[in-house]
Amino acid sequence: MSKSEDIAGLFDQYVMRTYSPTATLVTGSGCKVKNPEGNTFMDFTSGLAVHNVGHCHPKVVEAVQDQVATLGHVSNLFYTPRQALLAQRLSKLSSLGGKCFFCNSGAEANEAMIKLARAWGHAKGKYEIITFQNSFHGRTLATLTATGQSKVQKGFEPLPVGFAYAAFNDLASVREAVGEHTVAVMLEAVQGEGGVLPADEEFVVGLRKLCDEKGLLLLFDEVQCGMGRTGKWFGWQHFPVKPDAFTLAKALADGIPMGALVASPALSNVFKPGMHASTFGGNPISCAAAMAVMDVIEEEDLLDHAAKMGVLLAEGLKMFVDKYDQVLDVRGKGLMVGMILEGQAKDIVDLCREMGLLCCAAGEHVVRFLPPLNVKEANIEEALEMVGDALDELYGEAEEDEG
Ligand SMILES: *Cc1c(COP(=O)(O)O)cnc(C)c1O
Repeated sequence: MSKSEDIAGLFDQYVMRTYSPTATLVTGSGCKVKNPEGNTFMDFTSGLAVHNVGHCHPKVVEAVQDQVATLGHVSNLFYTPRQALLAQRLSKLSSLGGKCFFCNSGAEANEAMIKLARAWGHAKGKYEIITFQNSFHGRTLATLTATGQSKVQKGFEPLPVGFAYAAFNDLASVREAVGEHTVAVMLEAVQGEGGVLPADEEFVVGLRKLCDEKGLLLLFDEVQCGMGRTGKWFGWQHFPVKPDAFTLAKALADGIPMGALVASPALSNVFKPGMHASTFGGNPISCAAAMAVMDVIEEEDLLDHAAKMGVLLAEGLKMFVDKYDQVLDVRGKGLMVGMILEGQAKDIVDLCREMGLLCCAAGEHVVRFLPPLNVKEANIEEALEMVGDALDELYGEAEEDEG
């Protein structure tokens, strides 16, 4: 079974169709991946903001290989050194100065953060969490309820209680949503799945103030925009605020499944033994991968680089806004960039793939670009050419007709 179509056939026969895969991939290196026929694609999805240091970074590969051959897993019934070191590093890096909890995915990290907020507010009868329209927080029952998109919730009712929704970047709507049971406000610094929409500074500063006034927790979901994606370690660091807790996952361990909840000191001892758990959480292999990822980001100065490359990519895409009426806007932060179309994002995503560039949709009208943080200028130029060709194929003739 070595051909794309054979693999896809077997996959579709035995794997539940929760996604609609579009290509078969078998190898990766840096920002390139290959299909079984040997065709190369430029990967500007990075496994959905997972491979922030590129596919198969030698330092990460080595760290995982060493650890898996030393001690793979013992469970949290026992102390392991790397989990302690990783927690210390995240605590210091975020300057929250508190403790961490480790798990295996974004949804699970958010589930932990929701439980932490509820445990913190329990004695005061507070449990409701305000989230935002078009947010995305995961697919477990609690996190899909936190997600402010009805398409994610439809068919799974009745939903858990304890969530209220407000409009993103609209402080007045949050004020209105606060009730006697409200315990926290939870947001993404840059909404990812909802359409690559950054939070405004005024809004975030206002949220922090409002939370302080009302005795609420301010929680950030950094699952997609964390780990350097926006040009800072964490998206909330673009604003002069500190959260009470935040979550990480996707890029944290570069494809080894891992999630984390990072809390301020005030929340660090809310969970007592037995209140929350995860069998695989913080196992030595995922911790080794995460430590290697953080080493690479520091050694290769990838935060600055991502910020610079992000400007280059966004500026390049903005040329298309001038060129085509159907390209409405470009927005984002660092290497989390969205190109907003009048039409369907999927059409451009499909055409880009035919040209050799992998990107993805975020909602119906936004084409999302998530290259690795160590992407080179030449890669960005190459990608922009392919996007240009795709736009030209879809919109070019119409332009001529109109002209
Ligand atoms: C992807 C994502 C999640 C869910 O992460 P999983 O690992 O798929 O459970 C949660 N929040 C945000 C912001 C995400 O982008």
